[in-house]
Amino acid sequence: TGIFHSLVKLGTKHEIPTKPDLNTANFVLSQFPQAHLSEARTAFIDISTDRSVSYGELRRSIYSLASALFHGLEVRKGDVVFLLSPNSTLYSAICLAVLSVGAVLTTANPINTASEIAKQVRDSGAKLAISAPEEVHKLVPTGVPTILTSCPSDGEMLSVEELIEGSCYTSPELPLVPVAQSDTAAILYSSGTTGVSKGVVLTHANLISIMRLLLWSADVSGSQDDVFLAFLPMFHIYGLVFFGLGLLCVGVKTILMQKYDFQVMLDAIQKHKVNNIPAVPPVILALVKHARQTRCDLSSLRRMGSGAAPLSKEVIQEFRKMFPWVELRQGYGLTESSGGATFFASDKDAKAHPDSCGKLIPTFCAKVVDIETGKPLPPEKQGELWFKSPTIMKEYLGNLEATNATIDSEGWLRTGDLGYIDGNGFVYIVERIKELIKHNGYQVAPAELESVLLSHPLIVDAAVIPVENEETGQIPMAYVVRAAGSELSEDQVIQFVAGQVAPYKKVRRVSFIDTIPKSAAGKILRKDLVSRSIYQLVSK
Ligand code: AMP
Repeated sequence: TGIFHSLVKLGTKHEIPTKPDLNTANFVLSQFPQAHLSEARTAFIDISTDRSVSYGELRRSIYSLASALFHGLEVRKGDVVFLLSPNSTLYSAICLAVLSVGAVLTTANPINTASEIAKQVRDSGAKLAISAPEEVHKLVPTGVPTILTSCPSDGEMLSVEELIEGSCYTSPELPLVPVAQSDTAAILYSSGTTGVSKGVVLTHANLISIMRLLLWSADVSGSQDDVFLAFLPMFHIYGLVFFGLGLLCVGVKTILMQKYDFQVMLDAIQKHKVNNIPAVPPVILALVKHARQTRCDLSSLRRMGSGAAPLSKEVIQEFRKMFPWVELRQGYGLTESSGGATFFASDKDAKAHPDSCGKLIPTFCAKVVDIETGKPLPPEKQGELWFKSPTIMKEYLGNLEATNATIDSEGWLRTGDLGYIDGNGFVYIVERIKELIKHNGYQVAPAELESVLLSHPLIVDAAVIPVENEETGQIPMAYVVRAAGSELSEDQVIQFVAGQVAPYKKVRRVSFIDTIPKSAAGKILRKDLVSRSIYQLVSK
């Protein structure tokens, strides 16, 4: 039939729920360690303050904040709450409190610019924002009522900390707001296969399904007593599913970093005997390149994961040679599939298939579709990967055209990734065929940079493509058509873009060209530009 089914089944314990009114927050809280254990069990330790939060304290924070949001701030079912913060011990409590009152969570990278943030606030229709104090100035121009995560000493604004500590609305129970499984729980942003960033609408059913899959994978891998390290940002699906929500169901201890820093990571591993780190390829590469020069004791490490971008077989092999006691498993997924899609259930499998991202996780089906004919292909043949699962997003927010171009009438999600599945069910990603550029695992949408470039009075036309880069995966490169007689320099173009976008989106290389190659329908022929850039690099 051309359909690949997951070869792994969920046990009855992890079957997908049928309860029609189950809220993601209630699901997560119902998995918390039992009351008498939860005071003794640590959920988070913040590496910058050494502050530790038990599961019991986290539960109380969620209840208090949910009460304050519902009774005090009148946040109601369907209201969108915009969260702008780096990782913190409050992040999960905020997410779960928002979800528990039936409101919708939308998250953003705190280093985004004020105009990028304003765009997301507008697009998501946010009614309330919760912001780290250092970033709140970016929200002021939007006019959206905002509360802070923690209070600065001279602050006049209300903060989550105050709401939790001093709330007169504190109740021993969560406010019970019924939700349907198809109700929106979160809106995360992704550019998908083409164009600018769009709101990926994830429902309670989507999030509960991915939680159950994470619980299942933790059971399979025996992770219950692990100490995890979190530098992956919780605003991105990878960090949100692991650290914001999912691992709380497993009951592990997580050491929190506000952001990634190589030395801080090494110190944290040593100090807290970290044994499990979900990571991204640049982190694995940094360990391979620089760990030898440091005197850190990494003997506690047992497992590292890598996802969000491709990790080369050579780096994997080098890593295994240097750290033979550490399992390294690649996984693959998308925001549009609530994070995970493939997984290695054993290190033996991962070792034997270093090019692969693992097998389809339970509940997933895949098709490998010929990009010319649109026909499903048999094992070993390369085509676009399409997925179906209970974790696939409902839609792109308010964008029927993009939704229909991405999810077909039978519910198949087009990933925009070229790959194949071998006879034993292992999935291989070969190439990204969608426009998306990934810099350090972060999304950069060429269409967004092209529109910034076109706003320059001396730029007539522009196209942005990825250039492969060892350290960061890819960097954005711009081909630019200058206005006649203009002396615009490469550096001026780079500075112009850098002034308007978050640092990870910067155009890092520029080349001038007479015309941008386009198809008869006016679509940029990106492949031609990629070939040209490779030729330019080689002939330099
Ligand atoms: P995001 O929605 O930001 O998680 O980006 C999803 C995209 O990241 C996928 O469609 C892939 O292009 C890429 N990606 C994620 N994991 C991997 C992986 N293990 N190997 C190759 N590409 C990956």
